[in-house]
Amino acid sequence: MKVTVFGIGYVGLVQGAVLAEVGHDVVCIDIDAMKVERLKQGYIPIYEPGLEALIKENYAAGRLKFTTDAAAGVKHGDVQFIAVGTPPDEDGSADLKYVLAVAETIAQHMERSQIIIDKSTVPVGTADKVSARISQILDLRRRKDLNFDVVSNPEFLKEGSAVADCMRPDRIVIGTSNTATEEIMRELYAPFNRNHEKIIVMDVRSAELTKYAANCMLATKISFMNEMANLAEILGADIEMVRQGIGSDPRIGYQFLYAGAGYGGSCFPKDVQALIRTADSINFDAKVLKAVEIRNNEQKSVLFKKISKYFNDELSGKTFALWGLSFKPNTDDMREAPSRILMEALWRAGAKVQAFDPEAMEEAQRIYGSRDDLNLCGTKEAALKGADALIIVTEWQAFKAPNIDFIKQNLKKSVIFDGRNLYEPKRMQKKGIDYLSIGRKN
Ligand code: NAD
Repeated sequence: MKVTVFGIGYVGLVQGAVLAEVGHDVVCIDIDAMKVERLKQGYIPIYEPGLEALIKENYAAGRLKFTTDAAAGVKHGDVQFIAVGTPPDEDGSADLKYVLAVAETIAQHMERSQIIIDKSTVPVGTADKVSARISQILDLRRRKDLNFDVVSNPEFLKEGSAVADCMRPDRIVIGTSNTATEEIMRELYAPFNRNHEKIIVMDVRSAELTKYAANCMLATKISFMNEMANLAEILGADIEMVRQGIGSDPRIGYQFLYAGAGYGGSCFPKDVQALIRTADSINFDAKVLKAVEIRNNEQKSVLFKKISKYFNDELSGKTFALWGLSFKPNTDDMREAPSRILMEALWRAGAKVQAFDPEAMEEAQRIYGSRDDLNLCGTKEAALKGADALIIVTEWQAFKAPNIDFIKQNLKKSVIFDGRNLYEPKRMQKKGIDYLSIGRKN
């Protein structure tokens, strides 16, 4: 099938590459000319395991193309994916300007019937808005003869395993009430639906809400565990034991039960906020979601509070080794990352940071540029040299079994602040390390 994808971000690029891999003929369009040019030269703009090889192979085979030429892109596709960003507006609601801009572009250039697939995460009712905008432009073009249908097809990939998630999705949600559209969507996704039935067809509004409900449920689990962790600390309990104790109940399960430094990334914070705003707009008080957001915002400063208390609020002139900049492992994405809130608080308090991340160094450089109080180090060991303490913010595999003696020798004070509970407190105690983690007896 001929497929056009608008938006070469985490979702559009991965989905485009995966669709090309199974044999579809894919054109990806972005307004960022530099991104498109660099992709053509073989530079992959994001880090995702397996993505580089997938793109290079399919680009070389001619099944995957990149362009800024929207007219040519619209002409190419039998289906048009919208996979552009939906960042929070000033009040936290989803800003639809990029989605609607793509709708306009499609309407301006379409010359035959089209299926428009909304893959961006968008509030309930967006498909109607996209339809209205397209109809308006077709009216102006006097091309009412052109048929189109807007489908909601939310994306559930996880950054860090995006390629694997798209190659082997656990579900494919298709929001449409049009049987002809459903048939085309089934054909598009047939290569991913062989092992067992993964396609769930529903009405458009339910599909739009499903995506928000999924992310908000996961965010709720995290905020709940963070709340339990804070309680455990005060009550003298150990959240890691509690986690195992409740995770063993199959109704609860072990997934997503880790207490930590708060959730970040480009999805959970903005999607929780956007659903709260949707609820507000219809005078519905989303009490659970509001609590989830409040808990998370507070959780992001828990590590800083521990550090500040440990050093008697005297952080000025101190240097901190920081392991982990990305909002989670296996990605270079630092959007809404807890590391940013922590570093910025440390800088405000007059401290310096020596940071290392296996993949997000370029992104940190892009965000913060060169500043005297941030030293981006080439290795995790280099980040330790002469630092007053070590802080762990992201649970990369590479941080899970470090040489503790080396850490001790290189730090001025033998103290680790662990926002991801990577180590055994007893072992740290034996090694003579002050070990402050989340929700455990410190
Ligand atoms: P992103 O910011 O990484 O990429 C968006 C891309 O769209 C950018 O390259 C931008 O230049 C491009 N763009 C903007 N306007 C355009 C236009 N008019 N024409 C062509 N390209 C245009 O965003 P993302 O992380 O890929 O997210 C895209 C959507 O998918 C969002 O709604 C997000 O909530 C959702 N989503 C994201 C993830 C994730 O893990 N990142 C997972 C599931 C769903």
